[in-house]
Amino acid sequence: MNQKPDEIMEMARRRGFIWPSFEIYGGVGGFYDFGPLGAVMKNKIIQKWREFYVIREGFFEIDSPTITPEDVLRASGHVDHFVDAMVECNKCGEAFRAVDLAREQADVDIEGMSKTEMEKFLETKGVRCPECGGTLGKIFYFNAMFRTTIGPGSKRVGYLRPETAQGIFIDFKRLQRHARGKLPFGVVQIGKGYRNEVSPRQGIIRLREFTMAEAEVFFDPKNPTHPKFSKMAGEQIGLWLATDQMKNRQHITRITVEQAVNEGLVCNKLMAYYLALTKRFLLELGIPEEAIRFREQTPGQRAHYSKETWDAEVSTKRFGWVEVAGLAYRTDYDLSRHAKFSKEDLTIFYGGEKVLCHVVEPSYGIDRPFYCVLEHSYTSEGKRKLLKLKKWLAPITVGVFPLLNRDGLPEKATEIYDQLKSEGFMVEYDDSGSIGRRYARADEIGTPYCITIDHQTLVDNTLTIRDRDTAAQVRIPETELGKTLQALVQEKISFDSIGEPVKK
Ligand SMILES: [Zn+2]
Repeated sequence: MNQKPDEIMEMARRRGFIWPSFEIYGGVGGFYDFGPLGAVMKNKIIQKWREFYVIREGFFEIDSPTITPEDVLRASGHVDHFVDAMVECNKCGEAFRAVDLAREQADVDIEGMSKTEMEKFLETKGVRCPECGGTLGKIFYFNAMFRTTIGPGSKRVGYLRPETAQGIFIDFKRLQRHARGKLPFGVVQIGKGYRNEVSPRQGIIRLREFTMAEAEVFFDPKNPTHPKFSKMAGEQIGLWLATDQMKNRQHITRITVEQAVNEGLVCNKLMAYYLALTKRFLLELGIPEEAIRFREQTPGQRAHYSKETWDAEVSTKRFGWVEVAGLAYRTDYDLSRHAKFSKEDLTIFYGGEKVLCHVVEPSYGIDRPFYCVLEHSYTSEGKRKLLKLKKWLAPITVGVFPLLNRDGLPEKATEIYDQLKSEGFMVEYDDSGSIGRRYARADEIGTPYCITIDHQTLVDNTLTIRDRDTAAQVRIPETELGKTLQALVQEKISFDSIGEPVKK
């Protein structure tokens, strides 16, 4: 990771990972398109998350509407609490987030302060309009949900969902029947969430429309543990405790998840289990361990529904520490509120008594880890620019190149290209420019393997396979290609073991 972050974004745009949305109309902040390579890679991250939570954890996946009637979000507290404290300039009329101004001009985090405390703070610190230097007016609240109406007329108000979680809580009765009364049980939802950011200036890190992957784990508050906790107990995690943050201490507590629970640093074993699982997921994406930490939100920073929240953060060059997932202990807040507002009984019979389930929620963004992975994978070695993506995560798994555009080589290469596609590989055929340039293009987008078809291929049906990270090449029989590639991508064999390197 020795590159300037700007160079990474330039590559990401040029090669079709991410593009600013609505570009030919001048663009709108807070929106990004995933291009042809980006869309494939994003879907791979989502699929890996499914592997962790749906396949291995055995959680149910649902898919509910993104448009949500106001009643639901009134019950969930979002109508009242999903707000940004704003302040308007008395002179030029521009509006700003009070928290941003305090951070920029006084270097203090005022998140969690009351309205009057914020006003007092801005006044005593002499915070002014960053545009014109004018004085600032009173604090007012701006709800960050996108508002719409359902059907014609303005009577039925709806919002684009700020989280996917509410769709799960609404279906709780049906879901717990589906779980046949077992606790704990988990439900996930993957899809778009929305936040009408005031002034998104951080590119893909602060989006107005983003993809989330959320899991709600329902459990008996008397038994807040995970059936497989013992398997995770020894996993080390790094915690930045709220108490340290409030004393302005940068200290990270490195501890096993079991100790973290025993010492009361993490509220229960379920939460601890999912902190460890989150770390494993980020490692699987290719984020190095030293770039991962869990920051405990201070009481003022926590969302209205949460009793304890840990932000999984990844260190980046461009944006500093970036929150990529939030793990919240939502207690029975959501179920009790929906029971009250809908007048449905949401308790269940469990262990001979009525129980209102509590919830631990691992909630991931997908766009932010996507960026973090790009940044941590991008390297340059001399003139070589490399995206050292995990092999499974690369949008293109294999490049197929005829050495020359004649002598029957393109025909043979096309045959191999078709064969690899029929075996399910994402393959790219490239016959333009020198072979060196083709390798360089493949390296830049992280393609782990390239196949070259040369004259010898026509003689003995062997071809060269090249490893992205070492640039080493090995000649193997065509008949072994598919099986070898599969094993390499799944990291079941090493590149060294497949044959003698070809002298260049
Ligand atoms: Zn102003």
